[in-house]
Amino acid sequence: MGLRIIMLGAPGAGKGTQAQKLAAAYHLPQISTGDIFRKHLREGTELGKQVQGYLQSGALVPDELTCAIVADRLQAPDCANGYILDGFPRSQAQAESLDRLLQERNEKIDAVIEIDVPDAEIIERLSTRRSCPVCGAVYNLKFGPFPHEDEKCDRPNCGSHLVQRDDDREETIRERLKVYQQTTRPIREYYEKKGLLMSIPASRLGVEALFSKIEAMLAQAGASRSS
Ligand SMILES: [Zn+2]
Repeated sequence: MGLRIIMLGAPGAGKGTQAQKLAAAYHLPQISTGDIFRKHLREGTELGKQVQGYLQSGALVPDELTCAIVADRLQAPDCANGYILDGFPRSQAQAESLDRLLQERNEKIDAVIEIDVPDAEIIERLSTRRSCPVCGAVYNLKFGPFPHEDEKCDRPNCGSHLVQRDDDREETIRERLKVYQQTTRPIREYYEKKGLLMSIPASRLGVEALFSKIEAMLAQAGASRSS
């Protein structure tokens, strides 16, 4: 039993927000590599020290290190009944390592949900995105989720002033979309061949409308799995 989901989508497609909603609805942990990196950094763990150098230089964290960090996180008891992977795997090599890890754990991915948004729309959305520099929560001033108080983080005990991250600026976004096409897009085919890919056209869909579509597709898949 359990539910294991991978979320795919270009940066700014709204994947993190949907992962967060799915996690809450299905009572599963949202495994975001970005969040885990930040946690290791805060706590100054051995893995955190290794990650720090890469993040500071703006380089991608190598696949091997990323996989070690995910493997470590999946050991936690809250992952026993499933999890939502958000931002991992993001390359073919990572997808293959994940398969080996799942095999060791005697687990299977149930669905790979791809949120498909045209590039032009992503650029428009990211320019209004704001992030919390302290806890990593993400908001969008035009498309939601909206902070309750303008430019302030909603999370309990946080309330930090929201910022536009450097990598949400237009020239950086175009570069990130290019990187996404080159490295992440191929893994979509990898999962399509396995019959796991659920691609959801999400152009001009609000957070709630998109979530309803995802839930409906999962329910449908669940129904066919148990029949
Ligand atoms: Zn915050």
